[in-house]
Amino acid sequence: MDRKERITQLVDEKLPAFTKVSDEIWGYAELCYKEYQSCDCQIKEMERQGFRIERNIAGIETAFIASYGEGHPIVAVLGEYDALAGLNQEADNIHRNSFKPGEPGHGCGHNLLGAASMSAVTAIKEYMQENNLKGTIRYYGCPAEEGGSAKTFMVRDGYFKDVDIALSWHPSQFNYVWDGEDCLGTYNIIFHYKGIAAHAAACPQLGRSALDAVELLNIGVQFLREHIIPEGRIHYAILNSGGTAPNVVQAEAEVSYVIRAPKMADMYDIADRVIRIAEGAAMMTDTTMTKRVVSGTSNLLATKAVFDRYDANLRSFLPVPYTEDELAYAKKFKDSLDVSDRKRMINCLRADYPGKSLKELEEMLDMPMANYICRETGNTASTDAGDVTWVVPGCQLHVACYPAGTPFHSWQMTAMGKSPLAHRSMGIAAKVIAMTALDFILDEKLVQQAKADFIEKLEGQTYRCPLPMDLKPGGH
Ligand SMILES: [Zn+2]
Repeated sequence: MDRKERITQLVDEKLPAFTKVSDEIWGYAELCYKEYQSCDCQIKEMERQGFRIERNIAGIETAFIASYGEGHPIVAVLGEYDALAGLNQEADNIHRNSFKPGEPGHGCGHNLLGAASMSAVTAIKEYMQENNLKGTIRYYGCPAEEGGSAKTFMVRDGYFKDVDIALSWHPSQFNYVWDGEDCLGTYNIIFHYKGIAAHAAACPQLGRSALDAVELLNIGVQFLREHIIPEGRIHYAILNSGGTAPNVVQAEAEVSYVIRAPKMADMYDIADRVIRIAEGAAMMTDTTMTKRVVSGTSNLLATKAVFDRYDANLRSFLPVPYTEDELAYAKKFKDSLDVSDRKRMINCLRADYPGKSLKELEEMLDMPMANYICRETGNTASTDAGDVTWVVPGCQLHVACYPAGTPFHSWQMTAMGKSPLAHRSMGIAAKVIAMTALDFILDEKLVQQAKADFIEKLEGQTYRCPLPMDLKPGGH
């Protein structure tokens, strides 16, 4: 039996245990940094599978590492398990029907994400035992991907220092390995202004308005937008407008800014300019400004050797032998979707299949499940997995778990999250991850190649953690 057959067998044997974990996490649907039950059920399963557990990673109660083996190479497989606010939805229903209205739901597939990664490392462990392989395999239980930057804290605090290769994946609408080119770094700064309260009619000359400062900052930034790179993004939300009484000069006001760009140097450059405008707003209003960085992530760097192995292994598992029932299930959801970004998806297909006619591309897109490779571009996203790729050679696999056109962060993703189709897709992801990890565990030269490719990818840059050293996870 060759390696691929054995890995397929090992993943398939263990899959029922991990689909159970995935379904349980789907049910818990816990938000960023509150994933206590989701974390516990994973730790229990990994202990049962014979892994060593290290808890409270980077001071985060819901982060853990499960390890097996000794020495190098050390391969890390990352998993996530946080849910999204308001996306509770009845399973398998193509119509919006929340059974706990307003509660969180797994609208980004993170229930599958952690469980498939665990399934992969368990298969790798068995294979290493059977073949007396040297090395270490680790599952990184990473909470709070949605806005919590947990992995960035884990990187900042040195938890990836000894790792040779880091593999991540994400449930998706297409099958591909992400080159990270459209991944944006993010930087979240909160500006707080302090002024002087005064009666707005009786003695306005004594007042110094913090709300005016926030408004001037926002206006300054609107003018800045014309003079940044087109890929840059600046978003803001006023957290505190100072009160509800117009006849009082507002003494306190606060605004939160998120700055994004595909290259970290550009992102920090835009952030510095926003900070200078914020300082200017304080000068103009005679108020004082304090700022604090509350979260941040880096863009994703795909290391070539890892990308290539992931890509080859993914291709080897396609096409997926979906059952008629699975395809009918996917079609039912696909037909219910409002596919407003169809043009973008056709462009993605055109880039990967330049020889095909528009009609052929449309037929591919209309398949119930995208049973082919298609690199998704123009879907600018950010992830804390990016920070890991700045310190360890790695990249991110995407496996089709939902029909093309399913929006991320949607109730439809929650609805499809524990179907046999989702479970099968989890298995495909686990197999591709396991095969790729073993490629590196079995070949020291490939690890060295990945390290050389990683240095090349850095282009002389060094990693700057976007988070301040004194910032605590989940703390603002
Ligand atoms: Zn996600």
